[in-house]
Amino acid sequence: MSKYSRESIIGLGESSFRKNYYPELQEKIIDLERLNLRNEALIRAIPDIILISDLEGNLMPFGSSLRREKKLLDQMLNTQRILSVLESCVKKISKEQKSVNCSFMLDVDQEERHFEVRAHATELEEILILIRDITTESVLKDRLRFMAERDPLTSSYNRWSFEERMDAYQNSEEQNFGLLVLDIDGLKVINDTLGHYHGDEVIKKVSHMIHKVLGDNAYIARIGGDEFGVMLKGVHKMELEEALASIYDEVSLMNQMDGAIQISVSVGYAFHENGPINGLSLYQEADNNMYQNKLLKTSSYRSNLVRSLMKALEARDYITEGHADRMDELAELIGRQMGLTSVELDRIALLCKFHDIGKVGIPDSILKKPGKLTDEEYKVMKTHAVIGERIANASGELKEISYLIMKHHERYDGKGYPTGLKGDEIPIECQVLSVVDAYDAMTNDRPYRKALSKEVAIEEIVNHRGSQFSPQVVDAFLQVMMR
Ligand code: GH3
Ligand code: MG
Repeated sequence: MSKYSRESIIGLGESSFRKNYYPELQEKIIDLERLNLRNEALIRAIPDIILISDLEGNLMPFGSSLRREKKLLDQMLNTQRILSVLESCVKKISKEQKSVNCSFMLDVDQEERHFEVRAHATELEEILILIRDITTESVLKDRLRFMAERDPLTSSYNRWSFEERMDAYQNSEEQNFGLLVLDIDGLKVINDTLGHYHGDEVIKKVSHMIHKVLGDNAYIARIGGDEFGVMLKGVHKMELEEALASIYDEVSLMNQMDGAIQISVSVGYAFHENGPINGLSLYQEADNNMYQNKLLKTSSYRSNLVRSLMKALEARDYITEGHADRMDELAELIGRQMGLTSVELDRIALLCKFHDIGKVGIPDSILKKPGKLTDEEYKVMKTHAVIGERIANASGELKEISYLIMKHHERYDGKGYPTGLKGDEIPIECQVLSVVDAYDAMTNDRPYRKALSKEVAIEEIVNHRGSQFSPQVVDAFLQVMMR
């Protein structure tokens, strides 16, 4: 037999000259093969598309995984936008940053899909790029966020996210920030008479209307059953006034539609011009203003309470029938002529209705006396301002205007009562009421005299311009009268 057998030449057998390292080599080869198989399996198991890039961003497919995703990969590599994303991802890798993440979207078979890209630098001056389809996770995440942040009925933000956002603004330096609060009037009645389904429809309609009027820049949330809160950044006070007017216009348009459920809403706002924001006080101010607005709404449940109070007062003749309504109209015209805000106009309207509420505390012998009051009787009569303030304060509903009720008999020259306030120390609402109240009293019959003519009443008011009445209000009154 030859010295070199076939076995010994190929490195097998007892007589092989490689027999010393043969077992070790054999083991290594087997290990390598095993590793290779494992890597192959790993690559197949990874759902990602894997690419290799050099440092310039030249891409090369990697691994057998690509066979099954070939069509998708071709689509990606033929889309310039995706190539740019991958290239910029690669270029972000540096000595300090060994891995970079980015993402892109792509329409695949007419479906929008989301992809996440992870690029890792290897020791071989190459970059491994893994592209993963995260559409399911991404859609789910969006849905979860939507469910957490939004109100299911209207898709507006919910109370939780409204408060979160409000907290984020707390103490931050903001300029021209507006907070608007809106509550539907009498929704309980709609629920009780037409059913909850129609109540829900009203809530949805109102939400839609707010979105339509205030647009995308507003942060709109349903913060209660029938209450909405809206944050507006970078708005001026005038724009908030215009927004209120547009909301009323839009509601009235909705109500004119055939068969529409008649909707009424109450709105109030607070305006923050500059400096650190105090969310709570801003909300309280907007809510108070909304609440005042609500007291003027005939369809509101809350205003029912004050309306019954009014009726009771009228029935006992403490407040002359129609007096408040007539005053209301004239006061609004004067207020608008003066360019007052909606909040001031609402307060004037409430004041017109309730300024004399304290007369319940005045004896009939004085209140209904046909002749002139004695000094003593006049003293008692004058207490109605302070009594009115106390009643309003105790009623809760009218608390916000109690200070105005107290001051409605002050005079511009400081000779009024109860405190003798002067000029602009007197709230503007009382200055307006004072003219309107006097005009209405003069042009209607009183227990002690007949009604005066319009001309005489106007002349009387002009004669007291600057003494009893504010010159600014008298001027506006005259302009309204001339129209
Ligand atoms: P007001 O004029 O004073 O605003 O009285 P309101 O009847 O509108 O009642 P209020 O604002 O005090 O309370 C809200 C009501 O809205 C209570 C409840 O009957 C009703 N409501 C709350 N959430 C929902 C809802 O999701 N769907 C329906 N249909 N009604 C709701
Ligand atoms: Mg309501």
